[in-house]
Amino acid sequence: MEKSQTQILKEKLFRPKKNGWENLKENKKKDIFNYAKEYIDFINEAKTERECVKKIKEILDKRGFKNIENTTNLKAGDKVYYINRYKNVYAAVIGSNDLSNGFNIIGAHIDSPRLDLKPNPLYESEELALFKTHYYGGIKKYQWVNIPLSMHGVIMKKNNEKIEINIGEKEGEPIFTIADLLPHLSSQQEKKKLNDAIVGEDLNILVGSIPFATDEDKTDKVNLNILNLLNQKYGIVERDFVSSEIEFVPAMKASSLGFDESLVAGYGQDDRVCAYTSLTALLEVENPSRTAICLLADKEEVGSMGNTGMSSSVFEYFLNELLNKTIGNKPGLLDKCLKSSRILSADVTAGYNPNFPNIYEKNNESYIGHGISVIKYTGSASKGGASDANAEFVGYIRNLFEKNNIAYQNSEMGKIGIGGGGTIAYILADRGADVIDCGVPVISMHSPYEITSKFDIYNAYKAYEIFYKDE
Ligand code: MN
Ligand code: MN
Repeated sequence: MEKSQTQILKEKLFRPKKNGWENLKENKKKDIFNYAKEYIDFINEAKTERECVKKIKEILDKRGFKNIENTTNLKAGDKVYYINRYKNVYAAVIGSNDLSNGFNIIGAHIDSPRLDLKPNPLYESEELALFKTHYYGGIKKYQWVNIPLSMHGVIMKKNNEKIEINIGEKEGEPIFTIADLLPHLSSQQEKKKLNDAIVGEDLNILVGSIPFATDEDKTDKVNLNILNLLNQKYGIVERDFVSSEIEFVPAMKASSLGFDESLVAGYGQDDRVCAYTSLTALLEVENPSRTAICLLADKEEVGSMGNTGMSSSVFEYFLNELLNKTIGNKPGLLDKCLKSSRILSADVTAGYNPNFPNIYEKNNESYIGHGISVIKYTGSASKGGASDANAEFVGYIRNLFEKNNIAYQNSEMGKIGIGGGGTIAYILADRGADVIDCGVPVISMHSPYEITSKFDIYNAYKAYEIFYKDE
């Protein structure tokens, strides 16, 4: 049947919403599922920024990247990385163009919301031993009780020995949890606002209950037993906690979700889904024209400060080293490079959640399975805090994606005034580069079990690859 005049005009003028799975070829679906399998393995193995860095270093080493500090001169096609204090990474493939023409940079973050230990964490209450925590990042506290938690991190001993800890991930290992109140005694708690029902000081993790076997000294016997066990296993004493970074994270394994297995459920997908896709996309880059850089930052969830966060000048150190070792550096050259750089701030955004339809302004949301989300500005009601990408740069990005058949959507995050959020975009934009947010939509962001679509993950990977490679 022939198309009507109206149909033809509609197809020409409207922007239809499109579910990416529709009319997808079987071999493409297979590629998407295979890629997602490797991604799931990655987020199961890398549940903290330090574990991410370790895993990423392994991947980069295997793929021929060299530590930039072990190089003197660099030429087009060379691959280098720099690891900043075990917590954040920059990796680059040197382009054949003059570097002063700018870089193609993709930046994601590898820290995720979690529960950190306080400096003096251990206490005993009625013969139960507990750890005091201080939550990191924007969590809804009630979501973190009565779920299995695992313990990750490092402890620096007095003799400077570094103890690495990972308990609760392997089969047969103990887990930990925060005990919520039983419903039978919750009538007061349930009258509270959701935000007050569980407060920061309630996030105390149960870690043991057997008293140390002794007749003398009636106090702190469970604590003593716990410390004794830790001393036997790791050689640590209570004071060593002050020089530790211990993170408790959900112990659940990431896995496929749904009868059709189209989704991924798992902890830490904000923003490891963009970190993994931008990293693996960089591995596909050989001899680019413009120098391609993947930066994986720490501390995004608490404002990007500190020497491993995006605000740190260690990123400039890495860029200066690239210039030193290629075309030679000079005052002001880095500013010129940054001004001419194109950057994707690869961070997740809110996917439409059908349980809460009234929160969203349906014409301007990200939909699961509709591809990567391009976000011109973040911020809150007034666009406050947003770097707001220039129309010219948005034009460049949409043309690049359309030319290369990347499924993309353009969105905000919820109705105006409902909330808001930010990314590393503004920090890089402040340095003069063209920056736009561009990442995978997530349902239940910052919860212990975040949800993404395998279609969107794969599209992000492909979008990042063509971005790195564009001339
Ligand atoms: Mn994020
Ligand atoms: Mn976040």
